[in-house]
Amino acid sequence: MAHTILFRNARVIDGLADQPRTGMSILVTGERIAAVTQDPLTPPPGTEIIDLTGKTVVPGLIDTHVHTTLMGDEGLPLFIAAGVTSARDVGGKLDKVQHLKADLNSGKKLGPRLFICGPLLDGAEKSFDYPAFAEMLDNIPSPEHVPQKIGSLLAAGVDGIKLYFTMPPDTATAVIKYVDNRVPVTGHLGYTRSLDAIKAGIHGLEHVWISPYNEFCALDMQFGPGASMMDPKFWTQTLKGWEEADLQSRTARAWFDAMVEHQVHMGTTLDLLWIAKCGKEGALQDPDRRYIPPVVLARQKAMAARLGERPDWDIHPGFFEPAQGVKALEKHQQVTRILHESGGVVVGGTDCGALSYPPPGFALLREIELLAEVIGAMAAIKAVTAVAARYLRQQEHIGSIAPGRYADFLVLDGDPLRDVRELRKLTTVYRGGVAYDPRAILARAPHSPAVHPE
Ligand SMILES: [Zn+2]
Repeated sequence: MAHTILFRNARVIDGLADQPRTGMSILVTGERIAAVTQDPLTPPPGTEIIDLTGKTVVPGLIDTHVHTTLMGDEGLPLFIAAGVTSARDVGGKLDKVQHLKADLNSGKKLGPRLFICGPLLDGAEKSFDYPAFAEMLDNIPSPEHVPQKIGSLLAAGVDGIKLYFTMPPDTATAVIKYVDNRVPVTGHLGYTRSLDAIKAGIHGLEHVWISPYNEFCALDMQFGPGASMMDPKFWTQTLKGWEEADLQSRTARAWFDAMVEHQVHMGTTLDLLWIAKCGKEGALQDPDRRYIPPVVLARQKAMAARLGERPDWDIHPGFFEPAQGVKALEKHQQVTRILHESGGVVVGGTDCGALSYPPPGFALLREIELLAEVIGAMAAIKAVTAVAARYLRQQEHIGSIAPGRYADFLVLDGDPLRDVRELRKLTTVYRGGVAYDPRAILARAPHSPAVHPE
């Protein structure tokens, strides 16, 4: 018979209700939740009883934007250690992400449940040619190639489709039509305007910074054919574009209205500029920094050769100085707030793996902090639990604490509604009813040599 656990006297933030509930019992049978109730519950004989008096339980967190093939196997357990029990890979070589998905979902490797999109789908041109990243790319040279390319990805069982920077509007529209709602389609858009993709029926947009850039930023900085993310100026120019962005312009209003009308999920990835928020000194002092996985550090080391000797080589964003992002991040947060207050759909994602800092798992905790500043703690928690689960179409399985869902939840010593940073007061992580001790996982994780012991 399946192992049964009864958790008693918990304060539960279930991901769905607007208020926490106290005095709750959660009955777990095997890997699923069997009951959640305030009523007295008589458990079957042999049930393990765990008293959670004084503790808060929240659903396991979901990161909707990760790149698992870039972080090495050492990066995967970090998700669990930070409370992230599910993740969606939005760009990786198909056979690699398929293997990772199989190993993670079967429990062969310790890490989150994984959902995959396969490769980043460009148009005729390549978005970048860094050797370490290039294998993530595939392309659809013209709309005629859509049935073959997308057909084979769907046949391979991908959980979503990811449109990438150089895909032009006619191909993007053809992909969305061909997929026909079978899986969610999302985009990190550049050559295609997000408003056109929204009207064509796209389900999600990635990066507030990038996908809606054209609807907010000055004409002379607009993306389009010829724009390249490999150009160092691209990043400083987009930061400048955001500094000057008018969030109440006609095109901005049209974007908010369309996002709300079509309920398109905005995958924010505000954490891309976390380092601008906390400042270079703050980042250097940040204990999370010690968990940057070895393969990611090796890539940073190669980049450091270009940047020159500097104490922040392991966390430097690459093409711009962290302080240059302060005002842009404020604008990204404002876009997030306006979208949320207008009835739009905000989901948290991080891009961890692609960037060294913040590291996997911890990146989502930073994302939540930035979200909570503008939409409040409860909405921020929902954005990385129940709302994220709906985006992935997995709401029957993950993202909330309710009967039938996987027993993926976090036991906290703190109250994340008082301060979302208390998500770090994590005592136990349950994935499929199995308990993990975050401290034990972190003790086994490789520690970055860039961080000297205090
Ligand atoms: Zn990404």
